Amino acid sequence: MPRHDLVIIGAGPGGYMAALRAAQLGLDVACIEKEPRLGGTCLRIGCIPSKALLESSDLYHEAKTRFANHGIVLKSVELDLAQMHKRKDETVDGLTRGVAGLFKKNKVARYEGSAKLLGPGSVSVATAQGELSLECKHVILATGSLSSELKGVELDLDRIGTSTEALAWTTVPKHLVVIGAGVIGLELGSVWARLGAKVTVLEYLDRILPGMDSELAKEAQRCFEKQGITFLLKSRVTGARATKKSAIVSAGGREPIECDRVLLAVGRRPNTEGLGLEATGVALDKRGVVIVDERFATNLPGVFAIGDLIRGPMLAHKAEEEGVACVERIVTGHGHVNYNAIPNVVYTAPEIASVGSTEEELTQAAVPYRKGFFPFQANARAKALGHTEGRVKILAHRDTDRVLGVHILGPRAGDLIAECTAAIEFGASSEDIARTCHAHPTLAEAVKEAALAVDGRALNI
Ligand code: FAD
Ligand code: NAD
Repeated sequence: MPRHDLVIIGAGPGGYMAALRAAQLGLDVACIEKEPRLGGTCLRIGCIPSKALLESSDLYHEAKTRFANHGIVLKSVELDLAQMHKRKDETVDGLTRGVAGLFKKNKVARYEGSAKLLGPGSVSVATAQGELSLECKHVILATGSLSSELKGVELDLDRIGTSTEALAWTTVPKHLVVIGAGVIGLELGSVWARLGAKVTVLEYLDRILPGMDSELAKEAQRCFEKQGITFLLKSRVTGARATKKSAIVSAGGREPIECDRVLLAVGRRPNTEGLGLEATGVALDKRGVVIVDERFATNLPGVFAIGDLIRGPMLAHKAEEEGVACVERIVTGHGHVNYNAIPNVVYTAPEIASVGSTEEELTQAAVPYRKGFFPFQANARAKALGHTEGRVKILAHRDTDRVLGVHILGPRAGDLIAECTAAIEFGASSEDIARTCHAHPTLAEAVKEAALAVDGRALNI
């Protein structure tokens, strides 16, 4: 029977980073993945294919609507959707092969098949060659998440699908109804809107992007509406069904909507299916989330869990940090994740990025704060780019000036948030950012000006 120091179930960003760190620290480590390609949801059907399509669709849309303004005149712009998907698939393939290469280089043993926890230190794998049992000192569960379903929505995976299907549609929908104005709804809704679909987003709440800064979410909604996306807020979807020629979506208090495609994007749930957690007694909460302590340990000795399976935001970089910290804890006794410094990015146009606390959270916790804004309209680089929508908002403690939260709506917000995350990680004040020299002309100058604005000293406005 094969024996290893550590067996990891799932080769998503959490699992594969944990495997690489374990190998670096000298463990004999194995990773079990049921799919032929490594990289998990993120590489195969999540972050990477969605970002590839967002990039391509943005270029297409820019070529159609904005190139002429730059003095670039194209006789016609045509969509080759098959090529767009081919490029996306090649991007995914290259990255998944990259993870396989890293496993080889670091001598991570790879098993292909569905794994099941049998008990502490014992795992089975259903491989193509038959059942295999593994023994180990430690197990990390890293099986990620699956799309949540919605009662009454009959997923046929053709007209009515999840993000996985919406990443692969071979024709542009005429009318796409998106259920849920969260991250997936907005990113994939944007892709198809840019490629020519009429997009209607039905959202249960009275706002888009719950959990993110509400002021910026409102401003973002106006930007998306200008791009032609329709939002029907306070619309709780109760059903969707496919007919021969269309799909019908029903939402409380509204006339049923007929469309040709439906994207269900109402969240994701931990993937514990067939993992043997019930039989082995691994504790889950009411929502099926695996319960862990600060060491990522479950209630079973030597069994740990990370990533989308456990509490916290379902983000690839959060899973990665946890994978590394979990292994470091096992080997060295140290290793931690600063959950207050995990950036969150929505890759729409403009992008939306945030880190730390929102104003709503600070108000609720009665933390006194000051805020500084700076609009991209007054930033020289944004003007040159021709992308001036949005702004930077910095929240700092009223008495200590420590940066508590940063929220950005604007071009390349996802890159700009890195500086702000570092500021929070290092316990910086808004004055620290304001006194840091930022290159000119860059979008990052808007971050510096917002920091100056916390103290009422913005210069370029
Ligand atoms: P996963 O990536 O889900 O990996 C789990 C792996 O375990 C899978 O490969 C699965 O096949 C395997 N597995 C499951 N059960 C078993 C078993 N019994 N035996 C063997 N293997 C098993 N996050 C971001 O940070 N940025 C983004 O831009 C972003 N975009 C996204 C876009 C979409 C459309 C989606 C759906 C998600 C996106 N996410 C994004 C979220 C991100 O993909 C997840 O947070 C991340 O993949 C979680 O990593 P993980 O390692 O916990 O699990
Ligand atoms: P989400 O939680 O972001 O949004 C779901 C939305 O659906 C919410 O606004 C919710 O109010 C709404 N909703 C729920 N029930 C409804 C109903 N009956 N009718 C109408 N609306 C309803 O979930 P998601 O967009 O599916 O994304 C899932 C996860 O994937 C996210 O938590 C995110 O962490 C991750 N993700 C991240 C990125 C990124 O980092 N850029 C991209 C995609 C996905």
